[in-house]
Amino acid sequence: MSRTDSISKAFEPREAEPRLYSRWMENDYFRADVDPDKKPYCIVMPPPNITGQLHMGHALDNSIQDILIRFKRMQGFSALWLPGTDHAAIATEARIVAAMKEEGITKDDIGREKFLERAWKWRAKYGRRIVEQLKCLGSSCDWSRERFTMDDGLSEAVTEVFIRYYEKGLIYRGERIINWCPHCLTSISDAEVEYEEQDGHFWHLKYPLADGSGELILATTRPETMLGDTAVAVHPEDERYAHLVGKFVVLPLVNKEIPIIADEYVDKDFGTGVVKITPAHDPNDFEVGLRHDLPVITVMTESAVMNDNAGEYKGLDRYEARKRIVRDLEALGLIQKIEPHKHNVGTCYRCDTVVEPRVSLQWFVKMKPLTEPAIAAVRKAETSFIPERFEKTYFNWMENIRDWCISRQLWWGHRIPAYYCADCGNLIVSRKKPLLCQNCRGERITQDEDTLDTWFSSALWPFSTLGWPESSEDLKYFYPTDVLVTAYDIIFFWVARMIFSGIENMGEVPFRHVLIHGLIRDAEGRKMSKSLGNGIDPLEIVEKFGADALRYALVTGNAPGNDQRFQEEKIEAGRNFANKIWNAMRFVLMNCSEDLAFEGVDASRYTIEDKWILSRLNTTIAEVTANLEKYEFGIALSKIYSFVWEEYCDWYIEIAKARLFDTENPTRIEALFVLNHVLGEAMKLLHPFMPFLSEEVYGHLVLPGKADSVMIAAWPEYSPESDHPEEEKFMTVLMDAVRSIRNVRTSLGVTPSRKSGSILVTADDEVSRMFISGQAFLERLAAVSSVEVRKDKSGIPTTAVAAVFSAGEFYLPLEDLIDIQKELERLGKEKDNLKQEIDRVDKKLSNEEFVGRAPAHIIQAERDKRDKYTRMCTGIEERIALLGG
Ligand SMILES: [Zn+2]
Ligand SMILES: [Zn+2]
Repeated sequence: MSRTDSISKAFEPREAEPRLYSRWMENDYFRADVDPDKKPYCIVMPPPNITGQLHMGHALDNSIQDILIRFKRMQGFSALWLPGTDHAAIATEARIVAAMKEEGITKDDIGREKFLERAWKWRAKYGRRIVEQLKCLGSSCDWSRERFTMDDGLSEAVTEVFIRYYEKGLIYRGERIINWCPHCLTSISDAEVEYEEQDGHFWHLKYPLADGSGELILATTRPETMLGDTAVAVHPEDERYAHLVGKFVVLPLVNKEIPIIADEYVDKDFGTGVVKITPAHDPNDFEVGLRHDLPVITVMTESAVMNDNAGEYKGLDRYEARKRIVRDLEALGLIQKIEPHKHNVGTCYRCDTVVEPRVSLQWFVKMKPLTEPAIAAVRKAETSFIPERFEKTYFNWMENIRDWCISRQLWWGHRIPAYYCADCGNLIVSRKKPLLCQNCRGERITQDEDTLDTWFSSALWPFSTLGWPESSEDLKYFYPTDVLVTAYDIIFFWVARMIFSGIENMGEVPFRHVLIHGLIRDAEGRKMSKSLGNGIDPLEIVEKFGADALRYALVTGNAPGNDQRFQEEKIEAGRNFANKIWNAMRFVLMNCSEDLAFEGVDASRYTIEDKWILSRLNTTIAEVTANLEKYEFGIALSKIYSFVWEEYCDWYIEIAKARLFDTENPTRIEALFVLNHVLGEAMKLLHPFMPFLSEEVYGHLVLPGKADSVMIAAWPEYSPESDHPEEEKFMTVLMDAVRSIRNVRTSLGVTPSRKSGSILVTADDEVSRMFISGQAFLERLAAVSSVEVRKDKSGIPTTAVAAVFSAGEFYLPLEDLIDIQKELERLGKEKDNLKQEIDRVDKKLSNEEFVGRAPAHIIQAERDKRDKYTRMCTGIEERIALLGG
């Protein structure tokens, strides 16, 4: 009975992957514990949204994290990959509102309590979908520690941070202009606004001077906001308008006098140098308004419908109002001109609605005191970005950051721990709802209606998930974490906030490295998007080809920071690689008897090829380890690939066959041992990349002292004793010579079984010694039956064919390769055929009728044909002469 009887002919990912994943889970291999005997290694998973569906970005992000965790686990670290999900306030709430709309009900119909009940049900139903999808990739997270941003513990951390910040004066409540989404009906942070270029207009409006002495002309892209104008402004040094500052214009349509003010914010070289000031609807105007103590008049409702302040335009949608206002101004002769104008319009990242700047009472985090130490930490390399160029983006964002608006007019999220006394208006920030107002002893106390920005809780993720604010053992052991893996489009939203939150609350940066990877683009290099319909569903690929093939495709060509194209061929290459390994394993096992044990293996009996492959393995181990430490996943994988495919399968197995097939061979057992051992070690190197296949192959191989699973086996280590430079050199020269001889034979159409003698010409004594002792290799690999060594090529018959390689030339007697008489006959026939063709063309070209009537290009084509045949004929004549014909 052979060892391969029970092993399937091909690797079946669909059967093997779920089976192996369950086994890993049952054995608790993913679990990481506080272990004083081990060094900690920790990655916190960027928590996917509970609304999320696994896409290619997640697949890459999580494959990279899994590679690192599996690598470090095998290296003997207590390696924790901490998973979890994010409540995704605005995204989830939008989904639930949309579902309720189908039923014909709104949030206000059911109220806060009932709405939250629905939200929690929704999360129970759909929130774990993405977690299950992550498992399909082979992710080896410690699921026993899975967290959710609205868990009790994490919610406690949120409240604690809010209160600490408030007590330190880092959180304040104030009236500010914020980005408002009229569709989602909530404020959104600067980072959540996306800008797109849209076609618009510049409307040049005339504002009459109140004293009737003329008018001012100014341009706007949003004429509907004029109803809220409370001033017009010019630059203080603009001589054209100096005499008007302090006077008034009459605001058209509203018929109200507003002042002409001077402020440095105005660019006097732009347009007429006059701008309208609408503090309620423009962030810059808001600042100007604060400086000049201007009234703030809001003219729209939260849904961007004109309000009471808009007079006769009340009730109109903002765009409808724009049309009417323009029409009415035109009728009054108050529009000087209308120019087309392309401009960047801010839109809501959730729903694409054009954002409306809006003044409202919100909660803010004061950024400057938090960003300064966070900038310093990266400057001091306490945290470093890979690639380094992203540090610039980080600094740029941190240095220009505005205070962070953290309140959201949503129900799904962490409710702000602030309370108001209905009797005296007292504000109380407290961990629990106070029973009494400390100010007036009143009992009518209500909590702030708003919730916190989703990113407020995810900013705490690296320590809240480890048990903070408790001072837990986990926190002491695993914090700061080692690396955060994320795509470059999320640096601002999240990474920067985690860094300052970590420093402020833990006194230490949350991670040592931030590894930034690029985006997965389609085969043409376009961003994958719903609107283009060019997205690829990673789960479909897993279903069809297996997770290993997907991971192989994602990692191939991956380098930190760079976008990559996703091509179907890469998945096929991954699957082919798996098949190649599987076939190699089957071949090896087919030669291993059931009772094979390696007790008798003697390293002193290793042959040249054994030492060569062991030495190459040793080098590959050193290089792959170094590449992984530097996050060079693409390079590491390609090194494993060429080692296994080319050196192990194509050369070592081929060379070893002679010993395997000769049951009397004294070193057959060593060959079998090396075959199993090298493939087993290669599977350890491959394990982080292709965890399932490597586990299955490792499990079948005959390996003394084998671990229960490759994932808990020790990572291979480079050892100087396994270096065999002599044997490596010999094999390199040998393989080079064999390739060259094979090429020559192929080009002459020589059958593989036909052997030939050879003359080796080399000036290098060492090379000649190598080939004399290694003649058996040449015979087996290149069908060379004898080697005669010479220092130069004098006296070698001219008919001998040269195979040039790096250290010399092999001359193969032609008569050994082909039957000369037969070849002469064949060449003779070919020559006759060509002669006939030449005659035919000559006749045509000497026919005057043809030459006179045929178009020039036809005649030229015939002449070209003649030249070609003549050249071919000369070549054949030379070959015939060479063969002595
Ligand atoms: Zn929106
Ligand atoms: Zn009170």
